[in-house]
Amino acid sequence: MSYLLKVSQLKKYFPVKKYVFGLIPKKKGDIKAVDNVSFEIKPGECFGLVGETGSGKTTTARCIVLLEKPDSGKIEFEGQNILSMSRKDLKKVKRNIQMIFQDPYTSLNPRIPIGKSIGEPLELHTDMSSQEIRSEVVTMLKEVGLSPLHYYRYPAEFSGGQRQRISIARALILKPKLIVADEPVSSLDVSIKAKILNLMKLLQTKYNLSYLIISHEMSVIRFISHRIGVMYLGKIMEIADKRSLFENPMHPYTKGLISSIPLPDPERKMKTAPLKGTLPSPINPPSGCRFRTRCEYAKEICEKEVPQLIEVEDGHYVACHLLQCS
Ligand code: SF4
Repeated sequence: MSYLLKVSQLKKYFPVKKYVFGLIPKKKGDIKAVDNVSFEIKPGECFGLVGETGSGKTTTARCIVLLEKPDSGKIEFEGQNILSMSRKDLKKVKRNIQMIFQDPYTSLNPRIPIGKSIGEPLELHTDMSSQEIRSEVVTMLKEVGLSPLHYYRYPAEFSGGQRQRISIARALILKPKLIVADEPVSSLDVSIKAKILNLMKLLQTKYNLSYLIISHEMSVIRFISHRIGVMYLGKIMEIADKRSLFENPMHPYTKGLISSIPLPDPERKMKTAPLKGTLPSPINPPSGCRFRTRCEYAKEICEKEVPQLIEVEDGHYVACHLLQCS
């Protein structure tokens, strides 16, 4: 199987300091944001990473686009570990991995016309003339449902949905192979969300893109992903294709997340209980299984041993003692 992206044993901790006498910094511990995370993305595939806020999804995404330096692990893009690449090789890879941020307003320079912002990556990564760049930008504006007349307008003149279209155009202008989208629709209204997700789906087919979509909303992940990874407190709890995950969720955390999707019919009963409690501190996560403090099935072994991510059905991986001991 050839993967476009293969993440292996990725680890990213953030040190937490306290100040002795208010002056001398002393390490208090680590926020274990990403702890031995592994997954793969195939060419043309949309992989969704879902979990509550604070589960480490965004840090994982930021490591992949090299906005954070991982402590250890491997990130292989087309078979090559990008963490040990020369600057020159890295530049080539970087144009193939682009990111869409959660808040399009803060990711766009408010003083630069949007046409210029969208064309900026072409200025940095290609030898195209300004006329060629302009023509590419105009084409891309149309691709994302905007007008060429918007070229000289500023970000503040657009609605939230339009700004996310601009961000998509900017990410797509270099024709990358992988787009990492961190909560791409979480700041948008429901009707606009659907439009942006539909646009992303359309562009994925047209340009044979691979996506890594980060979201805390199960409904968003269900709509757009082919395969899904469920993260909790820096660890992957379950990975499966969309159908297996939603029809046969196996990890108690995944079941809880699915139960928290609002049902259109209030008379219909949830199959499992929604999630209870809050996320424990990532500085001092529970021993053994990190979900054990919120899990109604927790037993002795869950406190002592970290469950490994094991393939329990074809392509369906789960990290839970419940399944591994039976
Ligand atoms: Fe619950 Fe134990 Fe499974 Fe963790 S390993 S999800 S605590 S049953």
